[in-house]
Amino acid sequence: MPRCKADGCRWDHEKHHCALCGNDDSHHVSSDCYMRHACILGHGTKVGAASPITRSGLLMSTEGRLGPGIYFAAIPTARVIGKWRNEGEATVVYHCEVDLGRVKTMDGLTEDKSGSWRAKYDSCHGMHPPWGGRTEPFREWVVKSPSQVKIVGLEVCDGTYEGDIDLPGCWINVSGKVVFKGNVSTQTLKIEYQK
Ligand SMILES: [Zn+2]
Ligand SMILES: [Zn+2]
Repeated sequence: MPRCKADGCRWDHEKHHCALCGNDDSHHVSSDCYMRHACILGHGTKVGAASPITRSGLLMSTEGRLGPGIYFAAIPTARVIGKWRNEGEATVVYHCEVDLGRVKTMDGLTEDKSGSWRAKYDSCHGMHPPWGGRTEPFREWVVKSPSQVKIVGLEVCDGTYEGDIDLPGCWINVSGKVVFKGNVSTQTLKIEYQK
């Protein structure tokens, strides 16, 4: 099988899709992508966890497959995970501009629960086994520090949002049937009506 053109790729495939810039026949792996200092990634969560986030930014997880840090996935994956986590509440997906900095890439489904990458890297990228409503392994990224993350937008869909939302420089996109019970402060509010 002809190898993909991406330098440093160890996968056995013909074409390399870069998850950060979207190139489908990439010459680089995502950890070398020119977008890695300002890529848009998603963080799907349940609404109960969302209000503290809008007040103080995304929270560090103390543990995870790749150790402590702030976890992200590609936007479509974050949507599926958000939906799976919501337990009947509104689904919430944060869109964040992330500076991955120097990226450690894990082999296959390898874990690094102690976060040993943190000694030499700013972020770590790996494949997560099927979970959270996903039937295929999916990419995840974890970054070392909240200073690498800027929230740019928030998707809210289907359900009740109990708390306040305070995201003055961001957009909020509402779809489906959403009931807001708190105060909303944002720059742009877009509502998609259901047909
Ligand atoms: Zn490749
Ligand atoms: Zn790229």
